[in-house]
Amino acid sequence: MLNQNRLNHTRRTFLSTMAAAAPLAAQPRTRTNIKITDLRCAIMGGSPVVRITTDQGVSGYGQAESYKPYLKPMVLFYKKYLIDQDPTDVGNIMLKIRRLGANKPWGAAVSAIEIALWDIAGQVAGVPVYKLLGGKIRSKVRIYNGGFRPPLNGQTPQDYAEQTAKMKEAKEGFTLIKQAVGFHNPAMMRAMKNGWYDEPRIGANHPDAGLLTEGGLKHVIKCVEAMKKVLGEEIGLALDCGPGWTVKDAIRFARALEPLNITWLEDLITGDYTINPNAELFREVTRSTSVPIHTGEQIYMRENYRDLIEKQAVNIIGPDPEDVGGIAELKWISEYADLHGIQVAPHGIFDGLIGVAAHVHLAAVLPQNYIAFEYPMPAEPWWHEVIEGLPNPIVKKGFIDVWDTSGLGVKFNVKAAKQHLEAEDKAFFD
Ligand SMILES: [Mg+2]
Repeated sequence: MLNQNRLNHTRRTFLSTMAAAAPLAAQPRTRTNIKITDLRCAIMGGSPVVRITTDQGVSGYGQAESYKPYLKPMVLFYKKYLIDQDPTDVGNIMLKIRRLGANKPWGAAVSAIEIALWDIAGQVAGVPVYKLLGGKIRSKVRIYNGGFRPPLNGQTPQDYAEQTAKMKEAKEGFTLIKQAVGFHNPAMMRAMKNGWYDEPRIGANHPDAGLLTEGGLKHVIKCVEAMKKVLGEEIGLALDCGPGWTVKDAIRFARALEPLNITWLEDLITGDYTINPNAELFREVTRSTSVPIHTGEQIYMRENYRDLIEKQAVNIIGPDPEDVGGIAELKWISEYADLHGIQVAPHGIFDGLIGVAAHVHLAAVLPQNYIAFEYPMPAEPWWHEVIEGLPNPIVKKGFIDVWDTSGLGVKFNVKAAKQHLEAEDKAFFD
């Protein structure tokens, strides 16, 4: 798959051009001699996998969330902007395509392409991607558990306590656990006879919203108290809550939880699959409580983070590298957030194992406002046989060691991966 002599030549050219001084603006633009030859997308286990091929034999891979198979034509839409371009000029290609995306789920295609480009750039330079993003400032990165949730036996506080106890015992040794409550957890809300002043809605993700009844509010609080009691002080508890709360309910809820030292409350007002971050309403909640307020997993590009950050509307942002426009974009947003006293905890529950690699390189370079990224759970167990290059085990005591292989440092076991390709994608690895 890799023409080593041509790649070594390209690597030397690339490094020499990087090292060369550029004394005058009039100097011709430096170039490597590598060109993109194809952009492909295969759906594996429901997850769009992006492959960018080059005339040097090196390929880069990216991935989108595991339940977005409908993105395939969106990915291929950008092909015409990539062909014959130098993949190591990541910023130049992003200028061409970044305007043609939108909030979740429509930013995922651009994001997966960006990550695949960095994978190529790292391989061509012979360095891990984190070096190209500025160099690591931590050698192991903290993760949090937002996805390993054993089945519940019911919807009582005791049921949530038992589930949380199992999450605490997970072999990954998570130091921070996120549970779903409120409108983010329709089962919790709908199990009540009269939890809020509207009816359950049918529609795209998280359709319920409205003013909570007193009983509804108290039930959610009791469930949280039960979870927190299980975790004690040693493991943090964050809560994914919405969207769909009113500002006043959000404030009542947050204030009731203040004695519990919750790590954050996520997406109370807007969030997952909403089109407007609504900074003004978040700011009112944030200013009214000592509990850190979090949002942002659906947001595409820095422009759409501007209000939240500049108005200091939340305490923590949670961009997803596979939705926000990629890893360099997320780093830029995190640096800007850091200037405003805002923390970052990247979202990632469905980002897959290529996503794990992208998250680790990114987390290694984020400023000191980094908390943890949400550990992606593979949609199918066979992904562990298909993707090679990750540490084994991947997670040790709630952290992942940063590795030093070039590019993202992961590759496909092609023989194993081919078994999971659809018929129309069978040439994906050729
Ligand atoms: Mg969320």
